[in-house]
This record gives sequence, structure tokens and C-alpha cells, in this order.
Amino acid sequence: MKVAISGAGVAGPAFAHWMHRAGHEVTLIEAAPHFRTGGYVIDFWGLGYTIAERMGIEADIRKVGYQVREVRAVGADGRVRARLGVDPIRRATHDRYTTVARGDLAEVIYRTIENDVETLYSDTITSLDNQPDGVRLTFRNAQPRDFDMVIGADGLHSTVRSLAFGPESWYAYYLGCQVAACVLTGYRPRDDDVYVTYNLPGRQVGRFAMNGDRTLVLFIFRSENPYIPHDLHSCKALVRNHFADAGWETPGILAALDDVDDLYVDVVSQIRMPEWSVGRVALIGDAAACVSLLAGEGTGLALVESYVLAGELARAGNDITRAFDAYEARLRDFIEQKQNGATKFISFFSAETRLGIAVRNALLHAMNLPFVGDVAMKRALRDDVDVPDYRL
Ligand SMILES: Cc1cc2nc3c(=O)[nH]c(=O)nc-3n(C[C@H](O)[C@H](O)[C@H](O)COP(=O)(O)OP(=O)(O)OC[C@H]3O[C@@H](n4cnc5c(N)ncnc54)[C@H](O)[C@@H]3O)c2cc1C
Repeated sequence: MKVAISGAGVAGPAFAHWMHRAGHEVTLIEAAPHFRTGGYVIDFWGLGYTIAERMGIEADIRKVGYQVREVRAVGADGRVRARLGVDPIRRATHDRYTTVARGDLAEVIYRTIENDVETLYSDTITSLDNQPDGVRLTFRNAQPRDFDMVIGADGLHSTVRSLAFGPESWYAYYLGCQVAACVLTGYRPRDDDVYVTYNLPGRQVGRFAMNGDRTLVLFIFRSENPYIPHDLHSCKALVRNHFADAGWETPGILAALDDVDDLYVDVVSQIRMPEWSVGRVALIGDAAACVSLLAGEGTGLALVESYVLAGELARAGNDITRAFDAYEARLRDFIEQKQNGATKFISFFSAETRLGIAVRNALLHAMNLPFVGDVAMKRALRDDVDVPDYRL
């Protein structure tokens, strides 16, 4: 089949990997002029980890990943308020767990197919004619083309979703926060293999030291009027406005933003859709069912969705309708559970009051007790879904 995939993030290249393996002809369409490697670090475990093993990329992910020792919460004066060691997580996952920068993970996946599939950069689908015998696409730059199947893997603000299912506002649920992430070079201090977070009411700044003398910085802030600026200068201004009065190392971090040339700013939202496919068009990853960064595993779930969709296509002998239905039937309840669980974590990331922050720190502290930590982690990290080995 000729398969068009909009979006070369995480879900798109992962689906391209499986479809190429199955012998299909794949075209990736990416709006950015080159492969995007930005974003914060993510924890990688569970089913996503299993799929990475099946893709044969687990060793590469571990190579670019980090073995985190603890999460550390500090106050405005830099003094440690709470620590959480990762031993309960390692025990709950049987050490099938690593921390990796989103961009590094995306790159490892993309490298498996970059020479085998066509990627149209700086382009985007502008119209989509979804007919029983095929889909005709028009593009901003390329000439119109016909495909057997079109997959929207173009993230939270998916264009394929808008074209095939209706505007984002019908499906997006804003969770009250915005996020910004960037990489600083030569930043000090480093605290290797420790997530350091500083909370003040309604806001959080976190940093994580990476190899190559880089430090990833994450900002989360409550915002009643969410706004995603379209140019770098305005993104920096937005972050500076929200954190101007913050203590700890924030003034130094804001000053270092001067030298940053890639600042990711977005809303923290979920996508909830009544259906993930229509005709010959289906959605995967954030485009279909964004769980938000509060779930901590959007990237792993994007891998699971890519694998299951490719697996169900193989099982259905490429009967698109049957495969799309089976993909959704297998995963919908599981993803909805993850979405519901994620919304409970808002106050963990951006507690609204000083009391809320103190409670969060106390909870972090309590998780170090062996029994409490083990029980909580086993529950939090459980994947309640049956994903067969499709032997792709
Ligand atoms: C640069 C970047 C940084 C991120 N940083 C974080 C972070 O710090 N924390 C976090 O929780 N999540 C972050 N995310 C989101 C996270 O990657 C996803 O939640 C998760 O990996 C699911 O992946 P996905 O492939 O569905 O979406 P994404 O990884 O978002 O990939 C979507 C891809 O589609 C492309 N695209 C968008 N619109 C179009 C279009 N019209 N036509 C063609 N291509 C299009 C985008 O450029 C992107 O490459 C980031 C995403 C990006 C792109």
C-alpha cells in the first residue's frame, strides 16, 4: 500500500518503521524544515519499552539515555525540601526503565528508516479527499498525490485531524497549564542524574543535566488565557513574564534564555475523540489521544499505538476498515484510563498554594518508604492492556 504519514515526531517514524518492515511504500510529511529534536527528558518504561525492544532499538535508547538516581525538590533558597530515590520505580519495572531526551529518542527511531522512506520536509497537507478507493492529498508545496491510507501523526495540533474530523476545539481539553522546554549549554550547577525541581504556587522550573555539557530546562505554569506564540522572541517573553519574580536559580536560567534558539512552548491539553478513524484516515499519537505531559508516558503510548495499528493491519490482511476498528477496540479503554489518571497529577506539577507544595513534598518523601513506594509505583506504572506479539 501507499501510506502517507503526516508528522515526523515520535509516532510517525515509529509507524513508518513497522509499515516499511511490512513492505509498504511510506511517505512522511513534516512541517518543519528538518527533523525536530527538541523537548524535555521523558521516562521510558512499560509497554513502550517492550515495543522499543521489538523494534530493536532498546540498546540505542539506553546508550543515549540516563540512569536517574533521584527527583529532588528544592526551595527558593536552593535547600532540599524533598527527595525521591528511583529504586521503587526500578523494582516496579524490573529495571526496564530509562530516562531519555525526547529528541534523542525520536532520532533513534527515525534513524531506523531515514534511508528507506521518503520524507517531505517543510510541507503540510492542505486538503484530503477521503474516498472508498483511496485518498487524494494536496500539499502546500508538493504536487497532489494519491494514497491508500493516510495517518495523522502530527501531534496535539494535528492538521489531519482538523481536515478529516473537524477543528481542534471540538476535541481538545485544556488542563490549565502551559509548558516550555529548552536546552542550555554550559549551565552550572549540573547535579548529574538528578531531576531538580523548584515549585512556587502555580509554577515549576526543573532542570536535568545531559551529556555534551547541556542542561534541559522545563517550565510549567498555570495560565487562564493560554497562548502559544509563533516566534522565538515572543516565546521567551512569555516565559520571562511568568517567572520574573521566581527565586532559586530562575534569574540565571532566564538570563541564559538569551542564547537559546529553540524554545518549545505549548498548552498542556488532552485530545479526546469519539473515533480515531474515518474511511481511509486514522490518527495515532497525540493527534488521536494526547494524554499530556502529566501522564509522563505520551511517547511510550505513541509507540504502542503505532505498533498495534501496524499489527492489526497485518492481521486483517491490509483490510483497512477492519484494522482501524481492531486498533481502536484494543487500545481505547487503556488510553482513556491513562488520560483520567494524568489529570490527577496537575497539583504534583503545579500546586496552586504553598500548602499544596508542602503536601506534594511530603508525598514525595513518603514514597521513599519501601512498602509505600513499591505499592504506589506498581499501581502508577501498570499497563492494563493486552498487546499481542504480532511478529512483524
Ligand atoms: C519539538 C517538540 C518538543 C516537545 N517537547 C515536549 C516536552 O518537553 N514535554 C512533553 O511532554 N512533550 C513534548 N512534546 C510532545 C511529545 O513529543 C509527544 O507528546 C509524544 O512524543 C507523542 O508524539 P507524537 O509523535 O504524537 O507527537 P509529536 O512528537 O509532537 O510530533 C508531531 C510532529 O508532527 C509535526 N507536525 C505538526 N503539524 C504538522 C503538519 N501540519 N504537517 C506535517 N507535520 C506536522 C511536528 O513538527 C512534529 O514533528 C514535544 C513535541 C515536539 C514536536
